[in-house]
Amino acid sequence: MSAIPVTVIGLGPMGQAMVRLLLAAGHPVTVWNRTPSRAEGVVADGARLAASPADAVAAGDLVILSLTDYQAMWDILGDATAALAGRTLVNLSSDTPDKTRDAAAWARSHSASFVAGGVMVPPHMLGTDLAYVYYSGDVAAFDAHRATLAHLGEPRFLGDDPARAQLMYQAHLDVFLTTLSGFVHATALVGSAGITAEEFLPEVMRLFHAIPDMIAEDGVAALGARIDAGEHPGEVGNSVMMGATADHIEAASRSAGIDLTLPRAVQAHYHRAISDGHGAEAWTRIIDGIRAPR
Ligand code: NDP
Repeated sequence: MSAIPVTVIGLGPMGQAMVRLLLAAGHPVTVWNRTPSRAEGVVADGARLAASPADAVAAGDLVILSLTDYQAMWDILGDATAALAGRTLVNLSSDTPDKTRDAAAWARSHSASFVAGGVMVPPHMLGTDLAYVYYSGDVAAFDAHRATLAHLGEPRFLGDDPARAQLMYQAHLDVFLTTLSGFVHATALVGSAGITAEEFLPEVMRLFHAIPDMIAEDGVAALGARIDAGEHPGEVGNSVMMGATADHIEAASRSAGIDLTLPRAVQAHYHRAISDGHGAEAWTRIIDGIRAPR
């Protein structure tokens, strides 16, 4: 069976990496990008540059969008809606859950199928064993194109609500960006005692590898099940102990004269759990205050 024609709209680093993997897998690939010069590399590799968004959509059974946000999709396809009927749009761009659901309804109104996705690795890791991509939305359309999408990374389908893949992406980035800020804040903190980033970063990396074991002796799935059940047994790592540590980090940051935004946010989570009477329960109890801020 010959490989299906695929269209990729959006040729930032991510879109270009996708085009190259699809070409390598034998798919005819048509591309379109607002700034045409960005297509030069992938055209040299074998992709065809469409003359217009409508031409691009018409060329692919599967239309993948890799754009800064969802508004970019509407900006590009707003005048090409007549070409959408019968196509599957897979939008791998970041945006809010609401915009993602709006996009699915918009696609349906033009007789197109819609699947949202979130790519969980940077462009240079796409197509490797470490690559995975969350998808949700039209189940039949996803199933029809699963094998093609698998060239980008392991497809992980999350059901028919298109917002689920988007939220899974945002949740990973929530952890990632918070961690990066923690990383940099901590580097500034130890720097106040003359410890260089070069010394510190290899040390702190040990923590990353240990976190799964540190937070749950019986495994992270069991920890998740307890959170889902509203159970927060606090024999180890209770909110008073963790809150005291959060206080010490805030005080150390203050005496170092560095930014206090992050330590104060963390401190506030524990103060809230303690003031709600949950000091003896596990650190996971901070989820109540996060779910229902005052
Ligand atoms: P870029 O910002 O480099 O590319 C964005 C693309 O969107 C470009 O093709 C740009 O066109 C286009 N674009 C933006 N606004 C408009 C508009 N109003 N009209 C038409 N085209 C528009 O992003 P990446 O390739 O890095 O990322 C693409 C998506 O992948 C993003 O949603 C990102 O969150 C996601 N992602 C990226 C990762 C990464 O490490 N890069 C990792 C995981 C996900 P033009 O070339 O003309 O500017």
